[in-house]
Amino acid sequence: MKITFPHLGDAYIAINLLCKEMDVACVIPPLNNMETLEKGSKYSPEEICLPFKLMVGNLMTAIDNGADTVVMVSSAGPCRLGEYGDLLKSILDKNGYYAHWILLDTVHDVGVRELLKRVGSIWGGEKRSRLKLLRAFKGVYKVIKSLESLETEIHRLSAYEVEKGKLKKILYKCKGDVYSSEGIQMAQKIIEKSQKQMTQVEIDKSKDPVKVVLTGEIFSLIEPFSNQYLEDKLMEMGVSFFRRITIGWWLDITLVQPLKRAKAMKKKNAFLNYCVGGYAKDTVEEVIQAKKDHCDGVIQLLPLGCMPEIVAKSIMPDMSEELDIKILTVVFDEMNGEAGYITRIEAFIDMLQRRKKYVLYGY
Ligand code: SF4
Repeated sequence: MKITFPHLGDAYIAINLLCKEMDVACVIPPLNNMETLEKGSKYSPEEICLPFKLMVGNLMTAIDNGADTVVMVSSAGPCRLGEYGDLLKSILDKNGYYAHWILLDTVHDVGVRELLKRVGSIWGGEKRSRLKLLRAFKGVYKVIKSLESLETEIHRLSAYEVEKGKLKKILYKCKGDVYSSEGIQMAQKIIEKSQKQMTQVEIDKSKDPVKVVLTGEIFSLIEPFSNQYLEDKLMEMGVSFFRRITIGWWLDITLVQPLKRAKAMKKKNAFLNYCVGGYAKDTVEEVIQAKKDHCDGVIQLLPLGCMPEIVAKSIMPDMSEELDIKILTVVFDEMNGEAGYITRIEAFIDMLQRRKKYVLYGY
């Protein structure tokens, strides 16, 4: 069996590590690029959201490269992700890309036993394998969490560095080394080394950069190709930013602490009381939190056609007015060029900088 999966941010680093620990062969599609998008768009329904098109491109390439089993996260709705698995399979089958499919729905949707059965069918269901898998999963989870805390700190600190670009380099080198590491222990050591390197970078604490929160649809947030490498640009622009939504966060809410998540989802807020699919309620709550944390602004990212985030987007003007916080919504689709996005982001950051200066110094 050779498994494959569509790209979702750094998930490929974690899955690659897990497969190495479990001696399972996996075929990782090339990182998302224009070719992936063109291939995916050619075979996808025109109106479907951008992540779907990239996933079609990923899976077709992986099957071409020898994968025979597709592992895919899913949900029972209410957004389109609930239909993704079946629709992907039908499109790939119709075009001669056959594979065995394993859908990983949430515990909430299929129950613990069924989910474990499906996970077991990938990495072995016997008792010994299950223990091995549990140990490997715990190790990989720790690696991902450490990598993400390094990344979060670099996103915050890069606006203060004296020599621009050093922290970004440490982050990318660390990700590359963790990806090609032999196993969990080696990966942890690489991250520890990078954390040490990060603390040695010279920082200018007298700087007062604008602070921004990135929120919105999970795929657009954590898949760099789909957001035109926005985080790299913010680092280059000297913005200190925070993104809570990560692979580790997703693992927490779906596998590690699903009950805590269910309780949190019931909590009411003044702008959106109910889950409308995807992470729209989280987006709204992120804006409320950003205000509490005295951030200067919020950037909401979503792909064209994303149903839940359109609901969140429609609430943003009221939130901006009532909470007195600036919000920029950026909608990505496959037709727009990079320059259009960058101009809007630059104008937004420029406005935040001027506003901050005006509030602080009155000019
Ligand atoms: S959250 Fe939005 S982009 Fe993601 S699957 Fe649902 S509708 Fe599509």
